[in-house]
Amino acid sequence: MTLLDRTLVRVLPAVPKPVVQLFSSRYIAGPTLGDAVTTVRALNDEGKRATIDVLGEEIAREEAASAIAQAYCDVFTAIEEEQLDSNASVKPTALGLDLSYDLCRENLELILRAAHGNFVRIDMEDSSKTSETLQLYRELREDGFDNVGIVLQARLRRTLDDIRSLAELAPNVRICKGIYLEPASIAFTDYDAVRANFVCALDALQKSASYLAVATHDEWLIGQALQRVRGADGYEFQMLLGVREHRASELVADGHPLRVYVPYGEQWYEYSLRRLQENPTMAGTIARSTVARVFGRS
Ligand SMILES: Cc1cc2nc3c(=O)[nH]c(=O)nc-3n(C[C@H](O)[C@H](O)[C@H](O)COP(=O)(O)OP(=O)(O)OC[C@H]3O[C@@H](n4cnc5c(N)ncnc54)[C@H](O)[C@@H]3O)c2cc1C
Repeated sequence: MTLLDRTLVRVLPAVPKPVVQLFSSRYIAGPTLGDAVTTVRALNDEGKRATIDVLGEEIAREEAASAIAQAYCDVFTAIEEEQLDSNASVKPTALGLDLSYDLCRENLELILRAAHGNFVRIDMEDSSKTSETLQLYRELREDGFDNVGIVLQARLRRTLDDIRSLAELAPNVRICKGIYLEPASIAFTDYDAVRANFVCALDALQKSASYLAVATHDEWLIGQALQRVRGADGYEFQMLLGVREHRASELVADGHPLRVYVPYGEQWYEYSLRRLQENPTMAGTIARSTVARVFGRS
């Protein structure tokens, strides 16, 4: 990314919503569950698994959180009826974590029961939610829910400690870099330091996790993971819908399990902004076209 691109990425939130929607459509299945089903079926036909995400986060009303929980129950009904190879990923704030811990937990339990043995991954949000999210996970496991997994972020300095303290639960973990920019006091801010911590986390998780999902599009990290998982059981690669699809197909062709994160729903804006902000070329293109519009040159 050029310096200009990096600067323009910061002004992306000022880009008109229709422009964001146009450029981000590749990252989202569509507004409805039917769109998600169609996308997952196409992925399954290519030998790829899926995890469905109902878009929505930082929900501020109890009814809205309940509606998202219900949407997840419908997702599991559709997965069963359509015989899809998919599980689901949920964000605690979509289930009401900002309103109340207990509300979020109740909604999560509802979804875990509706999954009928299928699997639910609790996404990890920004660092203000890390401890509560891990506590949710721990409590659910201690209460006998085995169909639930967690996400850890290589960006956070605490992650290796979290791996150690979760080890007794033999957790099912997705390791990713972490999308939320965090202060240097709690996070690695240097690109190579995040990569290095990702590799340390891979090594630690290989010893302690019951299942390891490696979520990255970073070719160097994919290479590091490949060296470690070859011949092993209990792992998969994960990528986001619309990102490095060709590389995903290559991994499948080489015999590696691969799961694609498939978001759908009406609340596409925040997710889209995050995806565009980390796309090395797209963000600059959009931002430039917007600046051009502002100055009447398009
Ligand atoms: C399945 C999955 C689940 C995730 N869940 C979480 C979560 O719960 N919590 C969380 O904080 N983060 C989550 N993330 C996001 C993750 O933490 C990173 O922000 C994101 O994956 C980018 O990091 P990277 O490892 O791909 O490396 P990067 O260095 O960002 O990307 C490597 C290369 O991938 C390509 N690429 C990456 N992103 C894009 C894009 N949007 N458009 C086009 N090309 C792109 C580019 O070629 C780039 O050079 C998840 C990621 C995946 C794949």
